[in-house]
Amino acid sequence: MKKTNNAAVRDWLVCALLCLSAIGLNAFGNIAIYGTIELYFGSIAALLSILVLPLRLSLLVLLASLGSFYSQLANFYFVGVQALEYFFVLTLVRLKINFLVAVFSFWLSIGLPSTLSILHFLSDQNLRSSLFTGVTISLNGFVCGIFALFAYWFVPTVSQFKRFNPKAPRFSNVVFELCIVSVILPTILVTLVFTWQSADETEKRISKELVSASLQFDEIITDRIEHNLHTVISAAETIQTLPSLKNKGALLNAVANSNDDIESMLVSDALGNVTVVAPEAYADIFSNLENLTIAQRNYFQQAKTTQEAFISKVLEGRGLGSLDIVAIAAPIMRDGEFIGIVQAATKLERVVNFDALDRLENNGIDVIVTDNANAIVYSSLNLELDRKSLFEVQRSFNPFLRDTPVLDISGTPFMYASSQNRYGWNIYTLAPPSKVFTSIVNYFLYIGLTLLVLLILIGLMANRLATKITRPLVNLEGFLERKISVDKLLPESTISREMEAVTHSLITAREVSENFQKNLKQQVDDKTKALEELNLKLLESSQRDALTNLYNRGAFDQLALVAHESLASQQRPFALLLADIDFFKKVNDTFGHQAGDQCIIEVAEALQEMCHQEHDIVARYGGEEFIILIDCADSKDPVAFVESIRQRIEVGHVQYNEHRIKFTMSCGLVSVQDDFSLPLDRLITIADEQLYTSKRSGRNQTTIRVV
Ligand code: GH3
Ligand code: MG
Ligand code: MG
Repeated sequence: MKKTNNAAVRDWLVCALLCLSAIGLNAFGNIAIYGTIELYFGSIAALLSILVLPLRLSLLVLLASLGSFYSQLANFYFVGVQALEYFFVLTLVRLKINFLVAVFSFWLSIGLPSTLSILHFLSDQNLRSSLFTGVTISLNGFVCGIFALFAYWFVPTVSQFKRFNPKAPRFSNVVFELCIVSVILPTILVTLVFTWQSADETEKRISKELVSASLQFDEIITDRIEHNLHTVISAAETIQTLPSLKNKGALLNAVANSNDDIESMLVSDALGNVTVVAPEAYADIFSNLENLTIAQRNYFQQAKTTQEAFISKVLEGRGLGSLDIVAIAAPIMRDGEFIGIVQAATKLERVVNFDALDRLENNGIDVIVTDNANAIVYSSLNLELDRKSLFEVQRSFNPFLRDTPVLDISGTPFMYASSQNRYGWNIYTLAPPSKVFTSIVNYFLYIGLTLLVLLILIGLMANRLATKITRPLVNLEGFLERKISVDKLLPESTISREMEAVTHSLITAREVSENFQKNLKQQVDDKTKALEELNLKLLESSQRDALTNLYNRGAFDQLALVAHESLASQQRPFALLLADIDFFKKVNDTFGHQAGDQCIIEVAEALQEMCHQEHDIVARYGGEEFIILIDCADSKDPVAFVESIRQRIEVGHVQYNEHRIKFTMSCGLVSVQDDFSLPLDRLITIADEQLYTSKRSGRNQTTIRVV
């Protein structure tokens, strides 16, 4: 009772510890790897609890883990995936499937697909970034599983916390787990760290590229604008010195023709009436126009009021062609008085340098140029933005990016950098976030493939190694059980020097033990034989009478019973004789007891000598009394036979020292010829009665009864 209480307390303590670990790991143990994507380790505690705690306590740990995970992530779906992982692994482990195999199967079959779906359909990430995040989350899951197993290894083998493995695991499983922990775990960790660093560095590099591209492009455009600006300003300065319109026209033509950026130029008077137009093609159109005025144009008014050179926003040319242009206007001043402007319409596609653009766009960087009114001067084709439309930066967010600012164009995020020149023009350089991940996603695929190959290799290697190590042991077991011969045992023991030594020792030990057993068996056999002989002798001597070596009474009773049964069942005639020496007391009294013994011995010898039929049994029935079961085979006449015995005693004598001892013998005989049903003891009684009759009738005679 006390023991169970202790165990329960221990379980609760471990449960509390794991709950705290889950909460602590979720709150403080997460590691940011890409932008806002983090690795979480809280599930280690929940997975470990499957292995070490009873179900209801383990569920508590799961709740603690899921709760703290939700409070960190606020994403119901990912918490759901973690709960799913727990129950999946729990079920498989209960079905006696290897823990790591269960974790891997979950992430491959359910975890990765469901994470991808959540990211793609619910979090609206594109396929590439879903794949990227999904693989990261799955690797996170693997790592947690491996860490849980690693922690489990430190639970002592003899402990109530080792659940689900009452049997020792197969050696190949142990090797497999060892390889996974020592090879796959570092591989995944190194992969994550490298991709993390690589993503970080790529992001920084692209960010830098964007900034430098925007600055560089800014410089090119500014140079261009300033070059044109100076052209126009210096044209304005020169023009005010020229006397005739013709001279002015010639100058303007010369300027317009020498500058490729300039589509057309004009000169107006102080009221905005156009007086000169260049180059020649436009001059021809102009000559057909009457009263062309630019008084209402912004560039005119700006140049007039500020008396400074002015650069317009992007315009669609009016009057002189309909190209997209930027108008540069410079006031013509004479003696501090405004007397008109020189204006140049610079072709937009010339101002925005296309060689430089090509270089950037070929490098995967998109460009947007806006003028000082945020109207789009240029935008890369694939952005599908209209020229001259208003462009406003919509700041956005991408979970993979750490520092780079992100803007949103028609729902697509872009990393960007921007710069503004002194004319208020903005240059935006943009790159899709996938530019950071394209190479890493490929990298991930290679790593995934490598991991798969590694897993297969490790599986094979574990199996091979385990068989290599365990087969010699299994062989040894077989050898000791005599199922395997030495020839088969030795070659496979060469796996290691130790194994070879153990094998040789065992072979020697078995030989020694075999010899010992052989000797022992021989000794036991010898002893058993001797004992059996002794037993036989003992049995024999217990059946024999010590003086005469005839059967004693007990032996007769047993042997005669068997013989009687056999004879009676065959209805084979037989007889039973009781014989007693007459006046034997007197013999003893006269010649001494030893002489008496000698007489008994010689009578016994005589009786034994005369009885040699198959079922004849001669025994000493008492002191000087003998009993004989007479087999009357071959029509032997028992009466004649008994008489011959009696007469032999009567005529014979016993020589003892100088004494010649003579004596007689009385006989009682029962001859069984018809009634085979009489039992042996009844026959003995009848024989005894006959003997009594012989004694009473004067001794030295035979009384017979036939039944
Ligand atoms: P009977 O004619 O009536 O049989 O007279 P008996 O003297 O032979 O009969 P009894 O039964 O009176 O005496 C038997 C004697 O046999 C008595 C005993 O001392 C003697 N006796 C019995 N066993 C042995 C033995 O082993 N050795 C010797 N020497 N004498 C024995
Ligand atoms: Mg007697
Ligand atoms: Mg007697």
